Amino acid sequence: MRFLKDFLRVFFPNLCVGCSNELLYSEKVLCNFCSNDLPIFKLDDHTNNIVTASFYGRTKIEKSLSFLSFNKKNTTQKLIHNLKYNDRQDIGVYLGLWFSDLLKSNHFMKDIDAIIPVPIHHKKMKKRGYNQVHTFCDSLGESFNIPVYKSTLLRKSNSKSQTSKDRYNRAETIYKDFWLKDEATLRNKHVVLVDDVITTGATIEACCKELLKTDNLRISVLSIAFTENS
Ligand SMILES: [Zn+2]
Repeated sequence: MRFLKDFLRVFFPNLCVGCSNELLYSEKVLCNFCSNDLPIFKLDDHTNNIVTASFYGRTKIEKSLSFLSFNKKNTTQKLIHNLKYNDRQDIGVYLGLWFSDLLKSNHFMKDIDAIIPVPIHHKKMKKRGYNQVHTFCDSLGESFNIPVYKSTLLRKSNSKSQTSKDRYNRAETIYKDFWLKDEATLRNKHVVLVDDVITTGATIEACCKELLKTDNLRISVLSIAFTENS
């Protein structure tokens, strides 16, 4: 087996997603240098942080956290890009398990009943072959023994992000994109909505509007990454 692995590595070297240097056997996705250098948010305060603050006055969220800080040039961007466009679903597992370890010590998941990934449209699903946030959600679900509801909230249209519109209009437009299929399953629950990157927050806001049609539902939010100063 080791021989086969060595053989394959000659032709398909395992490269760091951050710096493209070859990875050691013990390293996955990122080399030690890049993983030590990842911009991980402080995760100690669930309600008084920039992620939760970005939703003040927009939608009711119990608590929220993001794992990594995102900007157009950093390693987080490379991780998300590969996860999203290069079929690197292992990155979702890698980050999901890492994030789970950190969440275990801060009890964020203690009162959560279910995980809901932000859905993508079925046409995009067909083209890409997967929802980029599913492996991340599955890793969280397995780590905390919490179910992942992948077909409760669906995306019925595929509008592109409309950066020219103001925040209110954007939220109104995207709102119509989501469809809550199974309201009864969510009644009286506390769910965590999970997205890859939160930038304007319009997608989360729109999902919440649709989800909050459910009686006595509480929503919290997690994301792999958050764009600061958006
Ligand atoms: Zn590296």
